[in-house]
Amino acid sequence: MSINKKATLFTVGLAATLVVTLALISLYFFRQYSITFATEQVRTSAEIVRLNLTESMINGTIDKRDSFLRRLNDIAGFQSAHVVPSPALVKQFGEGPAKDRSTQADEIERQVMATARPVYTLLDKNGETLFRGTIPYIASARGTPNCLQCHQVAEGTVLGTVSIVLSIEQLKRQALLTVGMVVLVVVFFSIIMVITTRRLIVPISATAGDVERAVQLALNGNFTSHVEKRTKDEIGQIASDLNRLLGVLGEGLGRIAESVSKLINRKPIPGENQINATIEMVEILTRAAHFKQAIEEDETRDEIHKRLAHVLEHEFFISEYSLYEVIPARNQMNPVIVDGIRDASCRWCNPEILVRSETCRARRTGHFVDGVGSPGICYAFQPPPDAPGRQHICIPIMQSGSVGNVLQIVTGETSSALHGMMLPFINVYLREAAPVLESKRLMETLRESNLRDPMTGLNNRRFVEEYVDTLLASTQRHKAHLAILMLDLDYFKMVNDNYGHDAGDAVLKALAKTLRLAVRASDLVIRYGGEEFLIILPETDAEVGAQVAENIRAEVEKLKVPLTNGTVLQKTISIGVADFPEDSVTFWQAVKFADVALYRAKDEGRNRVVRFTSDMWDDKKEY
Ligand code: GH3
Ligand code: MG
Ligand code: MG
Repeated sequence: MSINKKATLFTVGLAATLVVTLALISLYFFRQYSITFATEQVRTSAEIVRLNLTESMINGTIDKRDSFLRRLNDIAGFQSAHVVPSPALVKQFGEGPAKDRSTQADEIERQVMATARPVYTLLDKNGETLFRGTIPYIASARGTPNCLQCHQVAEGTVLGTVSIVLSIEQLKRQALLTVGMVVLVVVFFSIIMVITTRRLIVPISATAGDVERAVQLALNGNFTSHVEKRTKDEIGQIASDLNRLLGVLGEGLGRIAESVSKLINRKPIPGENQINATIEMVEILTRAAHFKQAIEEDETRDEIHKRLAHVLEHEFFISEYSLYEVIPARNQMNPVIVDGIRDASCRWCNPEILVRSETCRARRTGHFVDGVGSPGICYAFQPPPDAPGRQHICIPIMQSGSVGNVLQIVTGETSSALHGMMLPFINVYLREAAPVLESKRLMETLRESNLRDPMTGLNNRRFVEEYVDTLLASTQRHKAHLAILMLDLDYFKMVNDNYGHDAGDAVLKALAKTLRLAVRASDLVIRYGGEEFLIILPETDAEVGAQVAENIRAEVEKLKVPLTNGTVLQKTISIGVADFPEDSVTFWQAVKFADVALYRAKDEGRNRVVRFTSDMWDDKKEY
């Protein structure tokens, strides 16, 4: 209920209560006053009648009593006077005029005679209000004249009653008139009060309504309302203060929202709650900042990928998606995480993208691919038959000016709009992740290059130093053997000397390729020194290791390296073989033993494989 209504109801109610209360109080007191007044009149009249009767008795003119009583009726408002003698009086003086029916006692008179107490009653006769008082005449020796001189009765005996009936109609009318006047005056002032109150309340009520609407709109992010300044008092001040506040808030929030929107690259949605949208954007930016802090401290790209997947699943509730990693050197793409599963196979695209990454539109163009807005835009999108009705959004994650990762969000028809709204927020995370992924990739490349020999593409000695702990942990866990092969080209110096350094390099490259092809993918081929190579065969004992070494030796012997001048070079290789842990306590000792065996092979005429035996170590001083 509005203040206006409440105030009107309150004043009207108050006025009505005042009117009714005043009317009731006035009526009550007028009634009391009328009764008291009438009682006094009756008493006075009764006394006059008594005096007259006493006088008549003394003068012997009691027979004039009736005419006297009739004359009383002429007094204004006087209705009747009725005298009834008591049985004691009748006994002494006989009935006399009492024989007349009019002197017969009625009920009230009999009661008064019996109790010797006056009785007053209000009567209604044909709509006229009458007051009747019946008063006893009591014999007393104290008065003048002394009643007991004439009446042979005891002191206090009721000698008779007089009933006097007065009309109080006049009094009643005056009372009603007065009450009516009072009521009219009160009603008149009440109306003035209601009108005045309303005039005072209306601007307050209207301003309160405006303020309420403005606040409601402000809560919904709309600060454009204006509260009309209706008065020049505090209410008007409230209106102008609120307008100022709305202005400041609207402008401030607008500027914050604009800046944050720019940061997020999100266009405001018409009719949206500006406050909620801004809070949401700031929250996302804060969470994205935390995300960035976390991924910066991550060690590998893989950890970043996992964290990104966690954000997609737990913050955006996306369950169908693929995160690809591009391998530019090989023109390949790897599905890193698919629908929350790591290293899963390609689920939402034609697997061709994995080997020919340019078939992925996002990878090829480096642009956002909106399969929801333009279904069929990318031919590579191929949802499986058990997941029909899906569309996709693919976002390239740029690193070093090219596409480093592609995030593919798969969406059903119902969730596509939702995903559309989330996109700016997802992009915030991707934008944070991109430079960190890039720096991690660079770091990994740098580290990789430190561990790899650029000429042959093989890992180097530092790689063994870094990798050895992992390798040994796995070997010891499986209680397996490591076959360690140390290889050195025979008379390689001559190649350099006779054909130049480039020819020597060509031989080393060709040899590296041969070595790589001669072993399993899980075996490690390391360029250990200039033309010295170390081959580690996990889960292989020395016996098998020696066979592999022999195979390598034979392959190298067959290897022909054509030079630019048309010469074709053929070289041989010597190989020493050791077994860890059969031959040694430590890995590096086994490497040393393989080297010892290699020198034995050189000593024995080269182009051969020599298995290390403990007796060779006794001769260690020779090496
Ligand atoms: P041996 O049969 O006793 O091993 O005789 P060798 O001539 O091969 O002797 P050694 O193993 O001591 O020779 C190493 C030579 O390899 C010396 C060096 O000039 C050459 N060399 C080392 N690294 C490279 C390289 O990267 N490129 C070229 N072209 N030559 C290298
Ligand atoms: Mg050599
Ligand atoms: Mg050598």
